Amino acid sequence: MTDILTNLRNISGDTYVLSGNDDRKAFDTDVFGDKIGSSLAVVRPANTDEVAAILKLAHETGTPVVPQGGNTGLAGGATPTADTTQIVLSLARMNAIENINPETRTATVQAGVILQNLHDAVAKHDLIFPLIFGARGSCMIGGNISTNAGGSNVLRYGNTRALVLGLEVVLPDGRVMNLMNALYKNNTGYALKDLIIGAEGTLGIITRAVLQLHPAPVARATALLSVASLPAALTLLRKLQDASGGAVEAFEFMPENHMQGYQNLNPDRTLPLETPGAVNILTELGATSQLLARPGDDGRPLIENLLEDVLTDGFENGDILDAAIAQNDSQRDAFWHIRESAYEVATSDGPAIDFDVSVPLDQVETFLDQAAKRLASVVPGMRKTIVSHLGDGNIHYGVLPENNRNGIAPALKTKVMEVVEDLVTELNGSFSAEHGIGTSKRPSMARQKDPVALDAMRAVKAALDPQNIMNPGKVLP
Ligand SMILES: Cc1cc2nc3c(=O)[nH]c(=O)nc-3n(C[C@H](O)[C@H](O)[C@H](O)COP(=O)(O)OP(=O)(O)OC[C@H]3O[C@@H](n4cnc5c(N)ncnc54)[C@H](O)[C@@H]3O)c2cc1C
Repeated sequence: MTDILTNLRNISGDTYVLSGNDDRKAFDTDVFGDKIGSSLAVVRPANTDEVAAILKLAHETGTPVVPQGGNTGLAGGATPTADTTQIVLSLARMNAIENINPETRTATVQAGVILQNLHDAVAKHDLIFPLIFGARGSCMIGGNISTNAGGSNVLRYGNTRALVLGLEVVLPDGRVMNLMNALYKNNTGYALKDLIIGAEGTLGIITRAVLQLHPAPVARATALLSVASLPAALTLLRKLQDASGGAVEAFEFMPENHMQGYQNLNPDRTLPLETPGAVNILTELGATSQLLARPGDDGRPLIENLLEDVLTDGFENGDILDAAIAQNDSQRDAFWHIRESAYEVATSDGPAIDFDVSVPLDQVETFLDQAAKRLASVVPGMRKTIVSHLGDGNIHYGVLPENNRNGIAPALKTKVMEVVEDLVTELNGSFSAEHGIGTSKRPSMARQKDPVALDAMRAVKAALDPQNIMNPGKVLP
């Protein structure tokens, strides 16, 4: 063990190898504070060469390595398990934005770049990296890629996979695999880049990436709506897409108890809707061409007029019950604050059994109805927290049993997971839409994933990481 620590210090320098309990604590503990591992050390390399040297050492000594970015992952993938021989490899020091190319609309970055820092840097070129969610102030690009993160704008821009053109990856034996192209077309054999994306650090360590950027919207229209029902919300989404030529960037669903929970946590803020109902929708349209951004007769951007026309139609036919349109950036921020407080709202009432599922868009209502019915007998007195990226069918569903603050019995948790995941499977959905598998969804992988697909995954893992040193105990059941 001493040899490994000495060798790590020789590679990255004394300052960047943390072995004391207090120094390691934040790295050994997940974002919820309930998965607490115990690593041998945390190493914080400065560049790809150091990452390669560390993995070569790990390969030669059979030392397990847990890659870590911002440690905001919600599936327990970024922290060590109880095995005290593991080292955490933090990418935090590899935080350079190497290049932003406005001509090709690409950025070349190191894996430890914080998502918000990339947003700020590309904004100076009137560009966006359209991956948006509440943890953007601390999550890192390598973690985003490793989890194939989603968020609020998937509807328009796809998830992280759709935004990555090239990768540099250090393989478990320390070799550097160079897939750093900035090409839109490259049919040269197996899609290794796509294999690494979403692998949650089990196949290698991402050190650099080439990312695709998009033009920043020149005008936006943002509205918070109370809608008659989920099917009415879907109709509205279709109409907004048709009217705007696919410019809907976000279409987020928050039920009444989310709005109430938000109000409880923020008593000094006034909710924009006078009458939040059962189905509240935050929608945002982005005009990336001057055609939709130029002023209409009333001086406001056409995209706002267009949104208003669709909403007027919705009021007339009874689909929309109440609406507020953001008049300026601070109102827009206030609308988004309600949605992006989902984590605080969901955790304010103690621990929950959390799900991150997706179903076909027209099955969201069935999922919510059926889940409530089937769980009623399993979890007497159940409360739930729900928010949904409705535009892509992704539902964050939390089940809070009675007396949850005293802990949730493992048997109850397993039963609830089975009920919800069986329902998801019946509806042709997925038990993990965007947060990944980590440790928390491994039992679900065993229960729900196609066994032949699992065999293929195990074969890939064995081929690239025969010693099982890359993030062991994660993803594969
Ligand atoms: C408030 C809040 C809101 C969130 N909202 C969303 C959301 O809307 N959509 C969504 O998809 N997620 C969301 N998340 C989850 C989380 O932020 C994302 O999964 C994010 O992409 C993780 O990035 P990270 O840098 O924190 O990764 P980490 O948590 O550090 O790591 C995540 C996984 O990736 C691996 N990993 C990290 N870096 C590397 C690397 N360089 N090479 C190889 N493997 C690596 C880790 O081992 C781990 O398995 C949210 C989390 C919070 C706390």
